[in-house]
Amino acid sequence: MTIAGTTRVVGLFGYPVAHSFSPLMHNRAFAEAGLDYVYVPFPVPPARLGAAVAALPALGLAGVNVTIPHKQAVLAHLDDLSRTAELIGAVNTIEVTDGKRLIGHNTDAPGFAAALGRHGMVLAGQRVLLLGAGGAARAVAFQAALDGCDEIVLCDVEPARAAALAEEIARHFTAPRVCAIPLVADVLGQALTAATLLVNATPLGMHAGDDYPVDFAGLHERLFVFDLVYNPLETPLLAAARRRAIRHCNGLAMLALQGAESFAIWTGAAPPGELMLTTLEAHFGAR
Ligand code: NAP
Repeated sequence: MTIAGTTRVVGLFGYPVAHSFSPLMHNRAFAEAGLDYVYVPFPVPPARLGAAVAALPALGLAGVNVTIPHKQAVLAHLDDLSRTAELIGAVNTIEVTDGKRLIGHNTDAPGFAAALGRHGMVLAGQRVLLLGAGGAARAVAFQAALDGCDEIVLCDVEPARAAALAEEIARHFTAPRVCAIPLVADVLGQALTAATLLVNATPLGMHAGDDYPVDFAGLHERLFVFDLVYNPLETPLLAAARRRAIRHCNGLAMLALQGAESFAIWTGAAPPGELMLTTLEAHFGAR
């Protein structure tokens, strides 16, 4: 990669950012597409977020991704939001338009739907059991509602957070049916039996010995299991699904496809989803 006076800069605002795979997949995609762009990680502490966002037009950046812990706090510093970002209340992509206006987008949500689509799945008609009610779960839940799922059942270690998200979705949509349930084994077991799509949007599975609230014996053949976690590539939940020949996927494709949508927003080029995914797979030794 040659950086010249003409090179457009994009990047990532987060804290920390050292673990991120976004520079790898974006810079590979810029090189493959012959685009004069570079993707740079910026560690932005929470107290400096406003100053960092305000500097984007002054520095001539085309935009940035936004990650933990800034996805919700950044809304206060933007001029406008896409409908999805406004609904979800979280932004993972900022676009600088006309060299001055800051537009917030959420590409996690369409990235999730597109990752499901790679398995021939659509959200329409699904009965979704969603573990977690944090930032990623909000993107999944609103995308599921936007795409016409039948039902969303939410649970979280913080029951009030799940209840609040359920209320919020019900306020915006007449369908699907939506409710929050407690993390109690037999209640979860019943919800699992009724579900057609189980989504883990918690960090469960990232650490050895994590204790799942779901009894894997309840996984059934009508289910698709989507784990947003991608490190490790196979969590205990996904291993259980594989052993029972239940369709499943990890979060790697969602990571690639949300990145590809951001790339398209900044450059106007086609989203290079499959290239970003093969780049990540090669990095993780998944191929
Ligand atoms: P987050 O905002 O911290 O939300 C996680 C939520 O899950 C929190 O409400 C948390 O509660 C809850 N939780 C934690 N342990 C739980 C358990 N045992 N049972 C039920 N709920 C539990 O994090 P996030 O940004 O949404 O990310 C969640 C996961 O998704 C992470 O593993 C992240 O890496 C992954 N992710 C993947 C992608 C992708 O592209 N593949 C994108 C975004 C996120 P507390 O806050 O009380 O712990």
